[in-house]
Amino acid sequence: MVFKLKQQNRSGAGPAPVVDTPTIVRGVIDEIRAKGDDAVRAYSEKFDKWSPTSFKLSQEEIQHIISTVPQQVLDDIKQVQANVRAFALAQKASIKEFEMEIRPGVHLGQRNIPVNSVGAYIPGGRYPLLASSHMTILTAKCAGVTHVTACTPPIAGKIPANTVAAMHCAGADDIYILGGVQAVAAMAIGTETMKKVNFIAGPGNSFVAEAKRQLFGEEIGIDLPAGPTEILIVADEHTDPFTVATDLLSQAEHGYDTPAILITTCKTQGEKTIAEVERLLKILPTADVAGVSWDRLGEVIVVDSLDEAYELADEYASEHVQILTQNPREALEKMSNYGALFLGEKTCVSYGDKCIGTNHVLPTRGAARYTGGLWVGKFLKTVTYQEVTSPQESGELGRLCGRAARAENFEGHARSGDARAHRYLNDKFEW
Ligand code: NAD
Repeated sequence: MVFKLKQQNRSGAGPAPVVDTPTIVRGVIDEIRAKGDDAVRAYSEKFDKWSPTSFKLSQEEIQHIISTVPQQVLDDIKQVQANVRAFALAQKASIKEFEMEIRPGVHLGQRNIPVNSVGAYIPGGRYPLLASSHMTILTAKCAGVTHVTACTPPIAGKIPANTVAAMHCAGADDIYILGGVQAVAAMAIGTETMKKVNFIAGPGNSFVAEAKRQLFGEEIGIDLPAGPTEILIVADEHTDPFTVATDLLSQAEHGYDTPAILITTCKTQGEKTIAEVERLLKILPTADVAGVSWDRLGEVIVVDSLDEAYELADEYASEHVQILTQNPREALEKMSNYGALFLGEKTCVSYGDKCIGTNHVLPTRGAARYTGGLWVGKFLKTVTYQEVTSPQESGELGRLCGRAARAENFEGHARSGDARAHRYLNDKFEW
């Protein structure tokens, strides 16, 4: 049985969501395609009040900006990037290249080739999300990507210095202070001053996510739909309501559109969590944002058993799922739809977001039903090759190919096979 102690209230407080995001984004993309840099500048001025002489930072500017960043911030960036690098390289080592001899003299192989140019979007409308630099730029570099163009928006008309430092340390080849749809479209389409990339990675708000969606296909590849963040916590009667409330709010502060959901087997635990959230919202410095998300998209759901909780959590397919129960590891077997799992009270989504080493660019809005998050594999093209060194086997394959192709009425294909059966096995063959 499912009982909702707190439901979503989409018409609640806070700014009304922009309903026609796809049309707005289509307009910006079309104009950038038609007018290039002039349109990029016009939209940057319109949405971000930002129109510098050049959006691209020179090496001197980068070095000067980094000299203003506190040493502790730089040290922390390096420490976190060491974690992200170690995990990304271990992931890379797990995807093997191989060659097999499927029959004597018939060789089939697999190689992993990095995409050669990537555009990394580092969000920054509300907060300088410098951690996204580690997750996108550094991961691309670990995969072996040759050139990474990285974009991040200005914040309140200023260059976000900590983000620029993280982008540089992560290995960005070019850094642009440019945000939103105009940044994504400029990277995907190319302009007079920005070279087109082959692939775009990185999270962002609903405009950024929609721009990636619209440009995917003809223009570029993309990593995954990674829009406004989401959190879902599974709890039982033993779970501390303060910890649950703290962790729900840690994600609700991202923006006005963060679903923060608790599924618990204990009604009292759920009631105490709601009370804790309300108490913490009176003292959290970002409560103006987190409170709106909680009012509109927060949910507290009571179920009869943990199995029911896992089943319901799988239906949500949330970006982040925290398991705060007595035996959290059982979720590894019982759940299949999530961007990342956080097992037990000693870790939390914030560790994944900021420092622990797993990637924080994760699927949203149900995309966890068909994809995981960003990882080195997304920057690699897994390609195959084949070679036949045995004349006998080439002839045998020619006979098989001829029959298989004719079953599909492909006479041209069939004759490629016939020609080899003729050459290596003296089969009769006439054009
Ligand atoms: P952002 O960089 O994604 O977006 C800022 C840009 O949005 C601005 O530069 C501006 O050009 C554009 N914009 C703002 N209002 C607009 C409008 N009305 N029309 C057209 N363009 C407009 O930064 P943000 O807004 O702070 O959002 C960051 C988002 O990234 C959050 O929603 C956060 O939850 C999400 N995020 C997701 C993941 C993930 O993996 N899914 C990870 C980290 C962050």
